Amino acid sequence: MGLKEYRAKRDFKKTPEPAPKPGKKHKQPIFVVQEHHARRLHYDFRLEADGVLKSWAVPKQPTLDPSQKRLAVHVEDHPLDYAFFQGRIPEGQYGAGDVAVWDHGTYENLMEQKPKPMSISQSIAAGRVEVRLHGKELKGGFVLIRLRGQDKRDNWLLIKMRDPYARPGAAGSNGKATASTTVAKAATDKMSTGKTKSPRRTISGRTLAKRKVPVLTHPDKVLFPDSGITKADVFEFYRRIAPWLLPHLRDRPATLERLPEGVKEEGPHFWQKNAPEYYPSWIQRAELPTKDGRVVQYVLVNNIETLLYLVNQGTLTFHVWFSRVQDLAHPDFVLFDLDPGKATFGNAVAVAKTLHSILQKEKIEAFVKTSGKTGLHVLTPWREKGGYDEARAWTLGIAERVVATLPEQATVERSKAKRSGRVYVDVMQNALGHHAVPPYVLRAVPAASVSTPLEWRELTAELDPAQFNLPTIFRRLEKQKKDPAAGLLKS
Ligand code: MN
Repeated sequence: MGLKEYRAKRDFKKTPEPAPKPGKKHKQPIFVVQEHHARRLHYDFRLEADGVLKSWAVPKQPTLDPSQKRLAVHVEDHPLDYAFFQGRIPEGQYGAGDVAVWDHGTYENLMEQKPKPMSISQSIAAGRVEVRLHGKELKGGFVLIRLRGQDKRDNWLLIKMRDPYARPGAAGSNGKATASTTVAKAATDKMSTGKTKSPRRTISGRTLAKRKVPVLTHPDKVLFPDSGITKADVFEFYRRIAPWLLPHLRDRPATLERLPEGVKEEGPHFWQKNAPEYYPSWIQRAELPTKDGRVVQYVLVNNIETLLYLVNQGTLTFHVWFSRVQDLAHPDFVLFDLDPGKATFGNAVAVAKTLHSILQKEKIEAFVKTSGKTGLHVLTPWREKGGYDEARAWTLGIAERVVATLPEQATVERSKAKRSGRVYVDVMQNALGHHAVPPYVLRAVPAASVSTPLEWRELTAELDPAQFNLPTIFRRLEKQKKDPAAGLLKS
């Protein structure tokens, strides 16, 4: 459409409205809704696209109520700068009256995620535009649908999609406290009390969102150069392993180990805690304040769509908290991380077996898995009243008993130099905010190994932990009737 019509309608010597020139595109496209007190009050709904604002005049206030269809009259494109325009259009000029910004924010073009991706302009031409708005009043999915009719006007309907931001019954009077403002307020209240030690649960109410099957991009990108494993292979690995993996991730704040270019020495390697704003709203998040008063939106990997979306974003390994959002201050398992350092894997096996027998004497069920790197993880459910500090104190006591039994092979010495060829029994990770490698994740190492739960009888000095890797793991899992680590999931 361009800005010709916009220019033709206005006298820029008389109106304070911005000049008809295309603006510089924003990194994230923006939307704005302006309350326009013209002859008749209406709301101008505008979406940034192609350097201008695609615009609709909506006679009634847009709503989060999906049952309310708002007429939206498609009008001429406005310059991008118009998004920031507030003020009075003088008498006698086109659209005379006051203009105020009613809502604004960024948006995502959902038509881009369709099997046949479309730009906003293409979608307008096709008569259907779907966007996800990130505003203060308007949040979540909205659809604009062109009406067919004899009317000379270009009439559309603006309709809220059914998602967690939908407010059935809100009709017009947009509820002040939307899901995420409530969450944000809870977090801020918490921060102002200065209590950050035992975060309460604050989950965004997005669980009802319609999830989409994530798209795989760059399938041929080689992520593990030693073996030629591609992004498509990793995606397929996570798709197939999801039934084993997801129960171990469920409801636990996750830290993502992202290597978008794969396991390459010079490639990027991120540890990502905070879910960016552009992640789809159907991805569940747990909003948690940090010690220094920031708020982190942790992802909860609670379904296969989330898992695969994050894999497509370059996540190779998922790390999770020892506690779940329902009770973040209390871990539900503890970890003994057996790190051989300069010792052998056989030494780690010996230490694990000793640890196992000590735990058996205490009548505590224990589980063992390969770490996927050089060591072993021994895990036990934590069903005591105490929180992380108590759990860590208890594991340290057990670890010291292991060292007393095998002083030549095991140590709790934190300094690497003082370990002198002994296996480090690391229990310090049992702490609030720390995360562990769950069973069945791929590790970001050249061998593409998988952290694999074992039966205790399988654990021998001859065992080669490198045999559990992306290309081989499903041969094992096809024969596995039950997850050897399932006992961790009971609590
Ligand atoms: Mn208007």
